[in-house]
Amino acid sequence: MGRPLTDALDRPLGTLRVSVTDRCNLRCSYCMPEEHYNWLPRGELLTFEELGRLARLFTDLGVSRLRLTGGEPLLRRNLAELIARLRTVAPSADLALTTNGVMLSEQCAALRDAGLQRVTISLDTLRPDRFLELTRRPDLPAVLDSIAAARRAGFSLKLNTVVMRGFNDDELIDLVDFAAAVPAELRFIEYMDVGGATRWSADRVVSRSEILARLAARFGPIEPLPARGAAPAERFRLTDGTVIGIIASTTTPFCRDCDRARLTADGTLFTCLYAGSGVDLRGPLRGGASDAELIDRISAVWRNRSDRGAELRSTARDRGVFIPVEALRRDPRLEMHTRGG
Ligand code: SAM
Ligand code: SF4
Ligand code: SF4
Repeated sequence: MGRPLTDALDRPLGTLRVSVTDRCNLRCSYCMPEEHYNWLPRGELLTFEELGRLARLFTDLGVSRLRLTGGEPLLRRNLAELIARLRTVAPSADLALTTNGVMLSEQCAALRDAGLQRVTISLDTLRPDRFLELTRRPDLPAVLDSIAAARRAGFSLKLNTVVMRGFNDDELIDLVDFAAAVPAELRFIEYMDVGGATRWSADRVVSRSEILARLAARFGPIEPLPARGAAPAERFRLTDGTVIGIIASTTTPFCRDCDRARLTADGTLFTCLYAGSGVDLRGPLRGGASDAELIDRISAVWRNRSDRGAELRSTARDRGVFIPVEALRRDPRLEMHTRGG
């Protein structure tokens, strides 16, 4: 390959997050708090063959990390088949999955055999009553089983915790201890005002510095680890050697290093979590476009990219809900659960 593909701010294309379904079996209040959603029509979802083809083209353009997400990716039937296909078309890519963990334990072996290497499981609370309140489903035991199963299956394992003031900010220490015992690397995520977070308010965000202060009060001095490149988490070491991450998207955005493209389950390409619109790849795919034509289309999108969504949001005065619920109803692709986290 020639010169790496870079965007208007000189950022390379390195990561592709693929949302394989917009459906979810949980209703986390920070992501899907509404009673009703407009789903993408099933016939418009990309097939595994189409996803494999696009993954191959994206890796040709420089993507070295592929992450499957959703909605809840394990709701997509035969996901292991897709993993095996991706392993074949992109043999050297780092392949990862983000899941809420509810259905993981039963699929661990098949996913591992298919070539999945890394798994991130969302875990916001260790208390069953809070889990039920947050997600509207009584599934914490299933998630905890899956964490143990993922460990046994030998996955490289991370846990994601969205921190919300007044909900789980009194569990930071418990979650660190839990993750260390698994063992898995825990990452605290600042509550973001992405599309779908219609209950967001600034006072519910617990900042990176507040998280660090609380951990320091319990664990002592915290050592920052070397810079992360394009990865969203900053990593820190506690005095006992435990490593944790913080994704400070809200108070300390990292747009200048962002190498991530996102593909919705119906084949719309987004270049930012906060972008108002994306570019259709399904139409050309199904209309008989050649590899060269698809590569041209994707390259043009990336070259023109100047997104700095979280940075721009952080300068907003009187920051409130980013996208009103009426706009989300009109265009489900504005939702976090449609474009993947
Ligand atoms: N359903 C899977 C899960 O929950 O892991 C994958 C999709 S979910 C959209 C991906 C990630 O986005 C999860 O770790 C979730 O916690 C995070 N997320 C969703 N809404 C968020 C918000 N408002 N602020 C910060 N993170 C959020
Ligand atoms: Fe929760 Fe993930 Fe489902 Fe959103 S997509 S409601 S974060 S489980
Ligand atoms: Fe990347 Fe957009 Fe997130 Fe910034 S807000 S880090 S540009 S996806």
